[in-house]
Amino acid sequence: MKISQRVILCFLTAAAFVAAASQTTIGFSTLGSTWASGAIPMHLQLTGGSGLADGSANFNAVFAGAMSTWNGSLSRVQLTAVNPSTVPRGDGDGLNQVFFDSNYYGTSFERDTLAITTRWMLNNTQRVEADVVFNTAFTFDAYRGNVRSSGVWDLRRVALHELGHLLGLDHPDANGQSVNALMNSVLGNLDSLTADDIAGAQSLYGGGVTGNITFPPRNEPNAFFQSLIAAYRDELRAAQSPTYVDSEGAVIWLTEYARQRVGQCSHGAATQNTLAQITSNGGTLVCAATPAGAIPFPPRNEGLLFMNELDNTYRDSLRRSLGSSFVNNEGAVVWVLEYLRYRLNGCNHGDATTKVLQQIRGQGIQPVCTA
Ligand SMILES: [Zn+2]
Repeated sequence: MKISQRVILCFLTAAAFVAAASQTTIGFSTLGSTWASGAIPMHLQLTGGSGLADGSANFNAVFAGAMSTWNGSLSRVQLTAVNPSTVPRGDGDGLNQVFFDSNYYGTSFERDTLAITTRWMLNNTQRVEADVVFNTAFTFDAYRGNVRSSGVWDLRRVALHELGHLLGLDHPDANGQSVNALMNSVLGNLDSLTADDIAGAQSLYGGGVTGNITFPPRNEPNAFFQSLIAAYRDELRAAQSPTYVDSEGAVIWLTEYARQRVGQCSHGAATQNTLAQITSNGGTLVCAATPAGAIPFPPRNEGLLFMNELDNTYRDSLRRSLGSSFVNNEGAVVWVLEYLRYRLNGCNHGDATTKVLQQIRGQGIQPVCTA
């Protein structure tokens, strides 16, 4: 165990421009490292800030407010403030200091950089220190709305952005994405977190609730899928279809996607939350408790969109080689979701498997097991 490296994040530029590319709009980007669960103590050492435009007491109060804003969307971690803090500044000291300086630990800021966040990690996966340094070459205030032409910058939105880096978010626009997000690399008139920013953080730390619907243990959907493969191979005489996702991965992650959807996550959030578990140690919390009554299930077309993203993730992030399966991706989506629908509506494993196979054999959609 060692602190492996320090990386400087965010050359958040003061210049305003609009990216013109029409790119995919999947959403946030993450850095691949997260904090251990619990408090993330921040030592606030921002001097000055009397008479701020938004009425905040001082710059430390502005930063603490940005922390509270993020905390409202986080579950397994919370940012806590030592305000004001007098601990010595230190790079690699295991403490998270927030301060103004004309450089960061002896390194000059680039001309347009408003602030940076350092990133210290254990084994490249666990964040253990992050200092936020605001560049004294700029004049800061705290206000809402459009960036002021006076050249005075809103420290609050810069703080929200840097805290996004601290939590583990990267710049979506620097990763081929075109989304409305405060985490984009260029600061502009946007003055608050967007749904994409929040979905990104929740993919890493959970959205606040544990799912209240019990899904079957993993071995049972896996056993179902083996029956499905046999039916495709022996009864439907299906040809093998190319896929990067092995059968166990397909079952596990389709089930997790369904669990996120049942837990009130949108298609986009459920996709991100699930893929973040695969690629960046994301949390398993869902978006909200499932209300009483009929359990909402994702439509097939959205399940298939997820499956395509899963295939891409296995190919690009996990670098799996192309394999094949008697059950094509569309069949996996349709029948795993159908199996789970039976399971969540009162059917045991055997009954749910039988009912799905009856559908595959053209015997129609079978009733669920609860009234
Ligand atoms: Zn940045």
